Order: sequence, then C-alpha cells, then structure tokens
Amino acid sequence: MAKVVHKFGGSSLSSATRYQAVANIVLSQCQPGDCVVVSAAGKTTNTLVKLWQSHEQSDVRAFNDILLQLENHQRELIDALFHGDRHAELLAQLLNELQTIAAESESGRLHNASLLAHGEVWSARVLSNFLQQQGVASRALDARKLFTLNDGTLLHAQNREACHGAVTTDEIHVVTGFIAADNQGVTVTLGRNGSDYSATLLASYLDASQVAIWTDTQGVFSTDPRKVANAIKYSKVCRGQAELLARLGNPVLHAKTLSPLKDTDIKLQVRSSYDPDALGTEIVKAGYSKEKRFITTFEQLDLLRVEQLHSGEVKQLSQLIQHSIHHFVKAGEAYLLVPSAYSNLIINRLEHRANLVESQVQGFAVVAPEQDVTHLMAQAQELLAEHQIVKRFTLQEQNYSLVLTDQVIDSDLLALLHEKLINKGRELAVIVAGIGNVGQVFIEQCQKQITKLSEHFDLKLVGLLRSESMLFCPSGLNLSAWQTQWQNEAVAYSEQELFARIKELDYEHKVVIDITASEPFSELYPQFVEHDCHLISANKYAGTAKQSWYLSLRQQLQERDLLWRYNTSVGAGLPVNFALADLQNSGDTVSKIEGVFSGTLSWLCSSYNGSCAFSELVLQAQEMGYTEPDPREDLSGRDMQRKLLILARDLGIELELENIELEPLMPEALALGSWQDFLAQTELLDNFYAQKYQQAAAQNGVLRYTGKLELQDDGKVHAKVGVAIVPVGSAIANLTPGDNIFVIHTKWYEQNPLVIQGPGAGKEVTASGIHSDLFWLCQNLK
Ligand code: ADP
Ligand code: ASP
Ligand code: MG
Repeated sequence: MAKVVHKFGGSSLSSATRYQAVANIVLSQCQPGDCVVVSAAGKTTNTLVKLWQSHEQSDVRAFNDILLQLENHQRELIDALFHGDRHAELLAQLLNELQTIAAESESGRLHNASLLAHGEVWSARVLSNFLQQQGVASRALDARKLFTLNDGTLLHAQNREACHGAVTTDEIHVVTGFIAADNQGVTVTLGRNGSDYSATLLASYLDASQVAIWTDTQGVFSTDPRKVANAIKYSKVCRGQAELLARLGNPVLHAKTLSPLKDTDIKLQVRSSYDPDALGTEIVKAGYSKEKRFITTFEQLDLLRVEQLHSGEVKQLSQLIQHSIHHFVKAGEAYLLVPSAYSNLIINRLEHRANLVESQVQGFAVVAPEQDVTHLMAQAQELLAEHQIVKRFTLQEQNYSLVLTDQVIDSDLLALLHEKLINKGRELAVIVAGIGNVGQVFIEQCQKQITKLSEHFDLKLVGLLRSESMLFCPSGLNLSAWQTQWQNEAVAYSEQELFARIKELDYEHKVVIDITASEPFSELYPQFVEHDCHLISANKYAGTAKQSWYLSLRQQLQERDLLWRYNTSVGAGLPVNFALADLQNSGDTVSKIEGVFSGTLSWLCSSYNGSCAFSELVLQAQEMGYTEPDPREDLSGRDMQRKLLILARDLGIELELENIELEPLMPEALALGSWQDFLAQTELLDNFYAQKYQQAAAQNGVLRYTGKLELQDDGKVHAKVGVAIVPVGSAIANLTPGDNIFVIHTKWYEQNPLVIQGPGAGKEVTASGIHSDLFWLCQNLK
C-alpha cells in the first residue's frame, strides 16, 4: 500500500537538471510502494494546446513548427539524461509517437485530450527510466488505467480497485497526472493544472498517509512570490482557504485538489523541489490553523451573468473548457468568471441564458478572515483610487472580496496592495530560552515594547524554556501573568517536544531568543533554523563555535532568509555591533579594536591601587556577585577571548578561538586545582599582580586586562587577550571600574579612535540590548 504520493508539477520538470533534482528527491524521500505523480514537463501542455489549435485551424505550417518544438524539447531531455540502448529506445518511441500525431492530424483523427495526454506520458516515461538507470526499481503507470469517469463523474469503487491492483509494494510508481479515461477507454483530462487533483485522488484511493505537492515555490504564500518579493510563506493554511484560492484560479493548487481529502486524515503539503529541505506549507483541516490573508490576481477574464444556472452545470462547463470557473451569486443573480478565450464556447453552450457583463477584465481577490474582509476591501479601494485604476465590478463575500479592473494588476501594484493589506497583519512568535535575571527583565520590558513593535508585527510570547521545564502557549502568553502561568502550566523540558511545539506554531515569523549561557543549547541552533526560526543570542557559544560550524549555520540562515542577531553577546547593550556594521557599510576599514570587554576584570583592574592585595578585591567582587561562582572563570580571560572572536567574525575575519592568544590574569599554577587550593595560595596571585603593577607604574602606565585585535596591511591578523600596560590618561586607563570600553581604530578614526564605553553587564542594559536586536529584526523581516 502506498504510504506517500508525491506530485511534481511542470515547473519541477522543466529541464534535464530539474529531472535530476526530482530523481534525487525521489531517491531520498520515497519508499517502494510510494507513487510519484508527474505533470507534463515545463510548459508542454501549453504547447500541446497550441498544437491542437493549429490543427483545428488547419494551419499546417504552424502545426509542423510546434511539433518540431515539442520534439526538440523532449529530445534534449532524452539526450541529456540517457545513454546506450535506453537512449535509443526512448528516442525511437518518441519519434514514433510524433509521427502518429502528424498522421492523425492529416487524416482528421486527432483527438484533443489524447493529444494533451502525451505531455504527462512523456514525463512519466522519462522519470521512471531515469530512476531505473539509477538502479531504483520503478515503473511508469498510465493513469488512464486507474481513473475512469462516467459522464464526468469518477467511478470511485472501480478506480479504487484499479489503483490497489496496479500499485505494488516493491517499486516506485511514476503515474501520469492530469489524465483519465471515460468508460469507453477514451482519454479525458481532469482540467488544466489537474495533476494536483490526480495526486490527491490517487492518495485517497490508496489510503495513503500523505500527499506532497512539489512545485517551484517553497509553499503557499500570501501572494505570488514570483511577483512580490515580500510575500509571506505560510507554514499552515487551512483547507477552506486553500480551496477558495484554488476556486479563484490561483495556480498553486488545482480547484479540486482538496475534494478527495475531505473526511480523510491524509496530510497535504506543498513543498519546493528547488529546496527540498525547506519545510513547505501544510494544508490542514479547519480549526488547525488560524486563517490567513491572501491576494490572488486575475488576468484576461470575462464576466458572464447566467439565468437559471442549474446545479452541476458549472462542473460541466469547466469540463468543457478544461479550466476551473469561479462562480458566485450577487443580488440574486448568478455569475461566472471565465477565461476570455473560452467565453464564446460557454455562451454558445448556454444558448440564450448567458450575458456578457464585462469582457477582457483583470483584477484581484482578497481572501481573509471574515472579520477582516470589509476593511481590507476598503483599503484596497483607496489604493486603487490613488492609482487611478478603473473598477469594473466588485463583489464582497464572507471570506473574500474581488475587484475586476480595466488595468492589469502588475507586480508593482500587487506589491503595494500586499504591503497595505497583508504585511500589516503579520505576527511574530517569540520563544525565550533562559528566564533568569535578564530573561525576566526582558519579558517585563516586552510589555512596553509591544506597542512600538506592533508598527511592524504583532508580537506574541509563545514559549518559555529553562533547562528542566518549558511552557508553550501557541496563541501567546499573558505578559502580565506569565509567571503564574509558568508555575501552573510548565512541563518537563524535552528536545523532541520543543521541536514538535515549534513546528506547530502557525506564525508568519518565529524567533528563538537565547538568554542562556548553555553550550548544548547553542548546538540546537541549526535545528531552530531548520524549523524556520530567526535567532537572537545573548549566549556566546554559537558565535564562537568552530569556524566550519559557524559558517554552515550562517549559510543555512541565508538560504532560508532568516536573521541572527547577537548584540548582547559582546558588551551587553552597548551598540558595538551597530558601530562596526556602520563603519564597514560606509566604506571605512577597521584596523584595530582594543578594549576591556569584561565588567569583572574592568572592576578588578581599575579598583586596584596597591593599597590592598589583589585577591582581596577578587573575593570582594565575588561577594558582590560581580564574578562567576568560581572567579577563576573570569580571571582565565576565556570570556573575553570569546568576545574578541565575535568581534573579529563581525569584521569578516575567519578565526578560531585558539588563534586568539590568551594570557590569564593569574599565574598558571592557580588555574589548576580546586577553589580551596586557590584560597590557600592567594599570595601567588597577589605577587603576580603587584609585580606587574609596579612594572606598569615604572613605565608611567596602569595595568588593564584587554583584548586586542589588529589587522595588518598584509591581511595577517593578530589577536590577543591578556594583561596590558596602558598609558596614564588614555581612555582605557580612565575607565570607570566595571565599565566596558571598545576603542576602534579605522582608516577615518586613526589618530583619534572611536570609543564606545559604558556598562557592559547588568540585567537592564542586557535586556534592553536584546530588545534592540528584536526591534532590528522586526524592521528587517521579509
Ligand atoms: P506546478 O508546475 O508545480 O504545478 P504551477 O505553475 O501550477 O506549478 O503553480 C506554482 C506557481 O504558482 C508558482 O510558480 C507561483 O508563481 C504561483 N503562485 C501564485 N500565487 C501563489 C501563492 N499564493 N503561493 C505560491 N505560489 C503562487
Ligand atoms: N500539464 C497539465 C497542465 O499544464 C496538468 C498540470 O500541470 O497539472 O495543465
Ligand atoms: Mg500546477
């Protein structure tokens, strides 16, 4: 029994390279017993339609030209994909079929649907042969043997039996989409774009678990992503809205695709064959996803008013023209919206009952939740008026509205409509990991920030994580009562559950804010990215991981158009990241960054004046909570080493942590052993420091623990973290105890460097630094 039915549209099979990509997807995602439904390659059906028209018009020259065009396209595919006997056989078979088509045209026996069927037959043959050539057990199946219709109605029982008989568990079946047969065995089609429907029909007959519609976009978007770069990819769309879009002629799914899935649990996904790792869109049952906003456009339509439209008549008419027809009632009258090219055919068929109300119109429809439709329509009308677009007809229904216009809704106007009607209603789901001091302040500050952020996004705090517990509320936690909710509803933390919950989140964008100091948590970043989450980190581990891991994370983010901010991992809220980005963006070159990037080490060095032992200051700092539980973690300098690496990578330098020289602020012997051992030998530390202090004084300098990154003209990089003697009176020497300082030397700021200074730790400044990242993210989300 087939477990999964995959469908590849023409856009996924437009060239030999695309066939190879599809074969790779089949190899990695299909099991024997699965079915792969294929459409005609690229625009082959359009070409076949033209061939039919030239035949009808007895235009022999055009007919021969088009036939040659088809031959060349198929020949190119066969030449590129096959060799040896298989190549010869496939070519011979093709030429034979083309000859038959020519002969049938000449003798007047050419049959429209049988002609169109060639597109799908060729695709199935090429793909199954290509899979066989790769050693995959596969077979082409002609859907005319599976789907029979009687007078336009599918014979379900018979078809079910035929499907079960034909689909075996030992191979992959490559099935022709779009075509079927009537009960005389004559070819019929399921209508233009009908392979989606073939796939869901097959899945329902085979009781499959899911259908994957592979196309050339990553899923279902708020509008055509080829026309509007800012179109939003929805991870979930409910069946009702998908069906409505399809009925309005949107090509991403065929109008009847969803009907076979009614009352079944078969999952339906739309995915990109160009990016098979992307998550795609899941079409879910009503209530399993919030309703979204969409705009779909119309081109070259006629509007017909029909008297006494009978039930079932629209289906017959759409069968006649092989296209879906949008049908509605306004003020008690029935209307049909049909492609202009076919309206004569329909008017003739309906004899005297159809009146042409509008001809050759364009336009668009807005699909939205019921409560939004009216005001969105008003906004759309405003925009149309501003752009002097002439309206010919409008309709407002419960779940959508449509406007027919004189002018084409081009990409620019569509982008404006999208910006005004859709982008404004977007939601951002926030997951906060780490709800200690900083995390709590961050959430408190959220309440105030929300209004500001709502200019761009409606922000919802949907998840809270700690190392042992987690809380998810997909519709958003109550920001003023989150602590009670956490106490009452948090569950045990599990990675599996975490990703399951993230996957379920039905938002335009998601962001994971990592306020932990956990290395294992940072190792989950690639998985967050796979789940389409943006990242904000206060955590330094990902930014300082191995270069290869770091680069692959960056690449993964880029491929998915996801953003990563980590402002607070260096200098808390200090705008060092902004300064570095700005300098680089304005054509400046950074030659050196020097500074103190640890509040603890800043406090220790600036407070020491020789009047008490250095270790006393260390213990005092520990008592005030300025240090890590074991202050040697601070004295080791490792934290500053990581920060310097983050800064270096921000300048585009490829560097590993171990390439940064590290000199701890204590003698080596003290780094080993326990804290008690340390306490027993504090004089080692005191002498170590006092000696260096005197050396500094002798040079008219003071001691500071600094990080220094130097970029030499020959491209070499020198990076070091350690004790440095800095001249009395310099910015680093004058540092307020506890503050951080970044002294940035550049081409323009050479003699007099740019200095950023201020508290580099503390819950308020860190939390607000995270808000700065979040604000930036909201402004830059697509
Ligand atoms: P296939 O050949 O895979 O069946 P189609 O060309 O029929 O693909 O449908 C996919 C096309 O639908 C996309 O290339 C895109 O241009 C268009 N499209 C229009 N509206 C949308 C939308 N809201 N979401 C995704 N794709 C859309
Ligand atoms: N090849 C057919 C068409 O172009 C069916 C499909 O693509 O789904 O309409
Ligand atoms: Mg399609």
